Amino acid sequence: MGKGTLIKKLLERVPDLALSVSATTRAPREGEKHGRDYHFLTEEQFQERIAAKDFLEFASYSGNHYGTLNSELDRCLEKGRSVVLEIEVQGATQVRAARPDSVQIFIAPPDPAVLRERLRGRGTDSAEAIDKRLQVAEQELGAQDDFDFLIVNDDLDQASDELESIVRRSIGLDS
Ligand code: 5GP
Repeated sequence: MGKGTLIKKLLERVPDLALSVSATTRAPREGEKHGRDYHFLTEEQFQERIAAKDFLEFASYSGNHYGTLNSELDRCLEKGRSVVLEIEVQGATQVRAARPDSVQIFIAPPDPAVLRERLRGRGTDSAEAIDKRLQVAEQELGAQDDFDFLIVNDDLDQASDELESIVRRSIGLDS
């Protein structure tokens, strides 16, 4: 089970969290909905939003653009909630600079063989896209020391418990 599953569980377990819906130029996967899973933008729309300085952070990942809109952050914060960003490492670096109070958690995949099986099992990416994602995942491991916390996602239940506990402590729900 991947990052997405861990974060879904986190939102179920910890009250008052809001998940920021990112913008992307990636094509929607089967079952994904505009506005719920992502704001799906064309390359041109994405570039316009960059020019308008609408992004808290943005990055290129595996051939597509992804970014967190400031408006999305405001929408979540307005409700008085803590905001969860599920983003890759270049974006995390930008958020660290813009929001030094953010808590950064690196979720590491178990090992390349398991990750490959997970991506394959999801059935949404071509073999070529999976190879590219594995390469990126490998590169991302180099950035883990810059994060406040590290979770190795080899056992879903354990990783889920660790994530919940870190988040609860960080937002002051637990002593
Ligand atoms: P996917 O295409 O599998 O939905 O996402 C690919 C990668 O992009 C994942 O590592 C995900 O965390 C990252 N990602 C999703 N949204 C954003 C975003 O708004 N900003 C950044 N920097 N990365 C994102």
